[in-house]
Amino acid sequence: AKRAGRGSCQFFSADMNAPFAARLWLENQLSQALERGELHLAYQPQVELRSGRIVGAEALLRWTHPQRGAIAPADFIPLAEETGLILPIGEWVLREACRQAATWRAAGLPPLMMAVNLSARQLRSANLLERIDAALQASGLPPEQLELELTETSLMDDAEAARELLGALRARGIGVAIDDFGTGYSSLAYLKRFPLARLKIDRSFVCGLPDDGNDVAITRAIVALAHSLGLELIAEGVESAAQREWLLALGCGGGQGYLFARPLSAEAFAHRLAAD
Ligand code: C2E
Ligand code: CA
Ligand code: CA
Ligand code: CA
Repeated sequence: AKRAGRGSCQFFSADMNAPFAARLWLENQLSQALERGELHLAYQPQVELRSGRIVGAEALLRWTHPQRGAIAPADFIPLAEETGLILPIGEWVLREACRQAATWRAAGLPPLMMAVNLSARQLRSANLLERIDAALQASGLPPEQLELELTETSLMDDAEAARELLGALRARGIGVAIDDFGTGYSSLAYLKRFPLARLKIDRSFVCGLPDDGNDVAITRAIVALAHSLGLELIAEGVESAAQREWLLALGCGGGQGYLFARPLSAEAFAHRLAAD
């Protein structure tokens, strides 16, 4: 039992709903993770499927807690969304990813697209554009080297506002990719009204290639849709050579997945890029 009289410990009792307490603990820890320097970014190569050449990097958030060790994004990003902590954390991700891409560029490595995930909450925040501009300016990264990954659901949340934002991003030369494409229920009619650069075929479809007939059909349909709308494609979660062959045959140009590389530390990524 916790001793009474030691700050917040006295509020803990055997009755306390354990998941609730765990959530409060996690939220408290997450609110301090940034200033404690516990967050960092991993970078996963995005490749041209035909050649395997690295054309981009997706920045993926990592949290290493001093006691609990690595905590998976799936275990803390939803919480960060709900609490609003994703706003300061997401801004840090944006600045850090831009800084890293600019550093690689300055070091003479081949220029690449830096893809940054944006949550629905960030998309709805009033000063997002100013924050993006500030991150680009502070880093010196050309806007053409930044791509933002958004989900269908967050776009459809407020389609009119999203369309305006995407227009402003396009005017700056910043690309937008739809993440996890095919898992939301976006209306195709809306899709063509957004100025988009790319669709990312969700891993759940790639996973079933080539044996699952439904996944083949869905992937084929997404590729056809992207081609007819003039959008680029990246397949997520490419793990096998057979999946790569199928994606190429279906007409998908880009890929990302363990077949090529896991998410890497900045150092390891730079080595890969230099050797590419
Ligand atoms: P996502 O955007 O769909 O990112 C791709 C996820 O798939 C990553 O998981 C990556 O490690 C994993 N992955 C890549 N290739 C393969 C593969 O071949 N096989 C399998 N099984 N998995 C693969 P991760 O890093 O755990 O991130 C999970 C999710 O957390 C991301 O999904 C994204 O939605 C979210 N996330 C990560 N970083 C950020 C961030 O900075 N901001 C926001 N808002 N969300 C983030
Ligand atoms: Ca993503
Ligand atoms: Ca994704
Ligand atoms: Ca996915």
